[in-house]
Amino acid sequence: MTGRILLVEDDADLIGMLDRVLTDEGYAVTRAGDGHTGLHLALTRSVDAMIVDRGLPAVDGLDLIARLRSRGVGTPILVLSARSSTEDRVEGLDAGAEDYLTKPFELSELLARVRALLRRHLDHAVQLAVPGGSLDLAGRTVRRHAGGTVELSEREAALLGLLAARPGVVFSRAELLDLVFDDAESESVADTYVHYCRRKLGRGVISTVRGLGYRLGAT
Ligand code: CA
Repeated sequence: MTGRILLVEDDADLIGMLDRVLTDEGYAVTRAGDGHTGLHLALTRSVDAMIVDRGLPAVDGLDLIARLRSRGVGTPILVLSARSSTEDRVEGLDAGAEDYLTKPFELSELLARVRALLRRHLDHAVQLAVPGGSLDLAGRTVRRHAGGTVELSEREAALLGLLAARPGVVFSRAELLDLVFDDAESESVADTYVHYCRRKLGRGVISTVRGLGYRLGAT
């Protein structure tokens, strides 16, 4: 089975080992060593499953999952945790994780659980409604209701995907810089990519909310 997996784990030995094992199994692995980086990558890359350590610096694992779910990101997540009580498992599942594995674990069990997560994901290919069509986040294309598809760059898809996952929510340029363009130096990069999206999909795809930021759809 193939798939793209985002690993969020601050233990350098463990993340290195998991990366090797998952790569050997044929998965494409992306690594994040803290919760903030994990959040950013999860919001801007298309991945098929995530493995998230519970105790993370910057943003705690469960907080990370809750933030993703509140932004409409449904990527299946397996939580790794040193805590094994029923209460801890319930907290993890309540935060929006699909599965919970206690450290230390057997690699064969981890791999079996990852396969189960990926099977679940394949049943729910992510399609997000956008004005005039639907966005396939993984394929970075918009299928227009009127017919035809429009291809998006990785950043255009990430921006539109974030807005489409939370229709009605206004994102400030600072939030967009943080969540989509965190390697850029200026907030004006958000304006640039809004412009690109409008040029490809029409002005009504993203509206400007004066003094606040941007949101999906026409005003
Ligand atoms: Ca940890």
